[in-house]
Amino acid sequence: MTTQPSGPDLAQIRRVVTEIPGPRSLELAQRRKQSVSAALGAAVPVYADRAGGGVVIDVDGNSLIDLGSGIAVTNVGNSAPLVVEGISAQAHLLTHTCFMVAGYEPYIQVCEELNDLTPGDHEKRSALFNAGAEAVENAIKIARSYTGRNAIVAVEHAYHGRTNMTMALTAKNMPYKHRFGPFAPEVYRVPTSYPVRDGLTGVEAAQQTLARIETEVAAENLAALIIEPIQGEGGFVVPAEGFLPALQRWCNEHEVVFIADEIQTGFCRTGDWFACDHEGVVPDLITTAKGIAGGMPLAGVTGRAEIMDSVHSGGLGGTYGGNPVACAAAVGAIKTMREQDLAERARQLGAVMTTRLNALASDVDVIAEVRGRGAMMAIEFAEPDTLAPRADLPKRIAAACAEQGVIVLTAGTFGNVIRLLPPLVMSEPLLDDALDVLTHVIQTEADQ
Ligand SMILES: *Cc1c(COP(=O)(O)O)cnc(C)c1O
Repeated sequence: MTTQPSGPDLAQIRRVVTEIPGPRSLELAQRRKQSVSAALGAAVPVYADRAGGGVVIDVDGNSLIDLGSGIAVTNVGNSAPLVVEGISAQAHLLTHTCFMVAGYEPYIQVCEELNDLTPGDHEKRSALFNAGAEAVENAIKIARSYTGRNAIVAVEHAYHGRTNMTMALTAKNMPYKHRFGPFAPEVYRVPTSYPVRDGLTGVEAAQQTLARIETEVAAENLAALIIEPIQGEGGFVVPAEGFLPALQRWCNEHEVVFIADEIQTGFCRTGDWFACDHEGVVPDLITTAKGIAGGMPLAGVTGRAEIMDSVHSGGLGGTYGGNPVACAAAVGAIKTMREQDLAERARQLGAVMTTRLNALASDVDVIAEVRGRGAMMAIEFAEPDTLAPRADLPKRIAAACAEQGVIVLTAGTFGNVIRLLPPLVMSEPLLDDALDVLTHVIQTEADQ
């Protein structure tokens, strides 16, 4: 039997050989309709067969360029060699004991890596979970236990997950919260920094945010402030310089736990190991998931030892959290990021995207802003005079790109953002080809 190419050995080209979706994808769509809950969405109408580097090969043999990375997960590419090796070696040794029953080395290794790589050189501890939302839930539990306070502050446009606590923290109703209430109490929402819409400097925006917290919550009731250093689902909103450091300083002064949710921004995505590194922000707790393990389900909470160790013994855990196979995948993914300097790759891909998209923005007047950092870039569409959101465009653009073999995702509280999250191992010619398609599609759709 000849082995077919896989992972990074797949031909790194865009190739559309059938209509999209093709006949096999249509067949699977039909079976899905009969078997899978209709509540699950799908960004593209094709079904994947294999993927690697910067491409996803569908079941009809179409090769699509991946500008989504499965929502910022496959930063090292799909089926990256060290991830596959780690998974297979570990799967042969043991697949599960439960860390709370009998521990194992890969869990400890991942915690050591997290403590080492996350911002700040203070003493740290970590705990591992299954998914981003579970990490956020646990960060909140830890902050409440440590401070003995109840209130939690989240910001406008925030996204922190789909469980009950994290729905309360998430800003956007549709589709995340609609009809799913009541939500967890003692969550307060305050303004954030959204430069293109609020026109404020980072310091001014922070004053506004902190004034709201002081008048409506008060520090002595507040356990934690949670914020994404660059917002993900909210539309890749990058706060103005100085905003995050001012919030961090206020939290430190008032003994409020400052939680950075780096689930989407972490692991080299923004051109640093973590987005907080950009302004030297040192969170008390940091949540990670998505890019951590090359596609395996794993999440972490990392933070100051005195906070992490303050919870009563047995207070944190879960049956599968820090599964050994997922941990082995994370060790392989982190090694890949280090060896291939993927933070630097993210900066290079970001420079290519920024140049091309800024050129496009100068001729398309419904582009309100091109923004982001590293390989986390977005385009916001709005009417030029009023900034009224153009939510119709991203959906049409994403559909037209998929038809031509490029996967792009939408985002934004107003649904008016296209976001680009290529795997950090993508070659520049492939990225250029995807940007040719995207640019052409945007020019065509924006004229209509
Ligand atoms: C995706 C995401 C989450 C939730 O992670 P899940 O693994 O989907 O539960 C939380 N916060 C941020 C910033 C995210 O991007």
